[in-house]
Amino acid sequence: MTNTPPLSCRIGHGYDLHRLEPVAPAGAGRPLRLAGLLFDHPSGPVGHSDGDALFHAVTDAVLGALGAPDLGGLFPDTDPRYENADSALFLDAAAQRMRDAGFTVGNLDATIICERPKIGPHRTTLGANIAERLGCPPDRVNVKGKTHEQVDAVGEGRAIEVHAVVLLLPAAG
Ligand code: MG
Repeated sequence: MTNTPPLSCRIGHGYDLHRLEPVAPAGAGRPLRLAGLLFDHPSGPVGHSDGDALFHAVTDAVLGALGAPDLGGLFPDTDPRYENADSALFLDAAAQRMRDAGFTVGNLDATIICERPKIGPHRTTLGANIAERLGCPPDRVNVKGKTHEQVDAVGEGRAIEVHAVVLLLPAAG
């Protein structure tokens, strides 16, 4: 393990899934938010925080690239401070760790998997919201949507799933 060259870049992967239920008062679901964007949708995530699965997956991707503890380790869902929390604060904390470690975003790619709502019309907004929090140009963040072909929990609209991959590069200067 000697003579190992210093790392010039880091890759990280994040994943999140939230169960979807009818939005309160009809059920236990919170209003559906992805990267902070509020969707007018009859079902939403069950979760301790606001349940923003896109911010959660992106946060875990950044933390993973840094070799840091994951979202659940840093912000336990047993901590009442994070009940109904705006998940932007989790991503902001990960972004601060990234800057402190001397890295910036090379690029980030995220895939949202759900039957509804349709992601395509919102992908630019979602990417811009993530880029803003990470302090990088919007063209470094790509967000896309896929369906689950109507099978299993995601395909039946009972869950939403997000995968994210990020490449971190040394910050200039
Ligand atoms: Mg989550």
